[in-house]
Amino acid sequence: MEKHLLSKSTFIRGAQCLKSLYLYKKRYFLRDRLSDEQRLKFKRGFNVGIFAQRLYPGGIDVRPGSPSAYKKSVEKTVKLLEEKTKVIYEAGFQHNRVLVFLDVLINENNSCKAIEVKSSRSISPTYMLDAALQYYVIKGSGLNLEDFSIVHIDENYIMNKELDINKLFTSVSVMQEIAGMQEKVTEMIKLEKEILNYKHSPKIDIGPHCYNPYPCDFIGHCWKNVPRPSVFEVHGLSFDEKHELYKNKITGPGEVKEKFVNNELIENSCKAIMDKKTHFDRQAIQQTISQLQTPSAFLYLLVQRPAIPYISGTRPYQQIVYGYFLLENKVESTNEPIFKILNEPEKYQAFIKTMIDFLKNFKTLIIYDDVPSNLLSLKNEIKFISLKDLFINGHIIDPDIQEHSSFQSVAKKLIKPVTDKTSSVLNDLLAADIFESFNDNHDAELLKQVEQYGNYTAKDMKKFWEWLKAHSN
Ligand code: SF4
Repeated sequence: MEKHLLSKSTFIRGAQCLKSLYLYKKRYFLRDRLSDEQRLKFKRGFNVGIFAQRLYPGGIDVRPGSPSAYKKSVEKTVKLLEEKTKVIYEAGFQHNRVLVFLDVLINENNSCKAIEVKSSRSISPTYMLDAALQYYVIKGSGLNLEDFSIVHIDENYIMNKELDINKLFTSVSVMQEIAGMQEKVTEMIKLEKEILNYKHSPKIDIGPHCYNPYPCDFIGHCWKNVPRPSVFEVHGLSFDEKHELYKNKITGPGEVKEKFVNNELIENSCKAIMDKKTHFDRQAIQQTISQLQTPSAFLYLLVQRPAIPYISGTRPYQQIVYGYFLLENKVESTNEPIFKILNEPEKYQAFIKTMIDFLKNFKTLIIYDDVPSNLLSLKNEIKFISLKDLFINGHIIDPDIQEHSSFQSVAKKLIKPVTDKTSSVLNDLLAADIFESFNDNHDAELLKQVEQYGNYTAKDMKKFWEWLKAHSN
């Protein structure tokens, strides 16, 4: 068996951008560091895939132990099929020097069905292309498929006491659609292989494809020649609008400002970038501060969106408040934030009720992001001040802060945050990941890191509020 040139992931990479495929294969060292977001996304996809195997129990897993062991997996798949094994996980196939691993292969009554598992709530065009490639390789390797289904999470499922895996996932046959995509797949494989023979990377300019369908991991390399500051840093424009301007050689904030003379947000943003200074709308900040009624407190919520629900009455990907930090807003306050975390998922509703009752002791709560849907009713009784709105509405514009930046990015730029730089929990995503692993391993030490993260964040919010007051005059 000749070594493969393409795999499922490199094929999809090439479909997004041929240059990305080339760089990945030939200049791997130019790759950006994997972001926490991407790493956790892969982890979630992997975990959901493993979990979904329970839908088809008793299978044999032939996943290669290392990338170089792919040949063994392919050979083992052939052997298991000859032995009439009913369920194979991660079945390996190679054809025309393209290698794929299928999540689940069902081999019953002399017919085979392919199943690909996705952790998403719907089927995207990329998933269809991915399935079409697998069909191409499996069929080309000599195995006839009777059906090909994509199994994904049903967003309408509500967990009721116990998780019902058969209701959590939904299965959609895509056989007809992917059979009709075979010509496209064949041509794309041909083109991708040709590109890999190039001496230099193909000339492809930056564009929306750098982020769609996935953020490319060669952005650091390809975007390094975009002049700084650039149109891409300007607030008040979508990515596509910025790219359109860039394509039309309107690349600097000065040119953008001239083009959008009647747009206050864009003008202020361009000015902030050119002057390298933070823009403040002092009147709007004053107005925000004046909404405060006592007693007030800073509230930082720890929120997660588990793909697989573990709390009765919740849906997949529903926002779950698993902890909160509350720091009273008192001038003389040297107090520590009050910290609560969900220790017993089965008591979630009681946890939320106790939290709501406690929050009602305050007239104003200063938050960063908006509150999740199950706390929205609180807005009828308590005044919420969202600090993020100051950035979204352009009342504060800083060249280094995006409109939807996290509070940690804001604090890092505008105040001296208390945050412990040595901590492994530096953002909400990592905190939620640790909390999820705590549910499995009950490692109290890990949870302490989450506690410290929230504690510092609540204190930083108070610091930021003082900073705001100082900048409102
Ligand atoms: S950054 Fe953009 S142009 Fe560069 S390889 Fe990635 S997708 Fe292609």
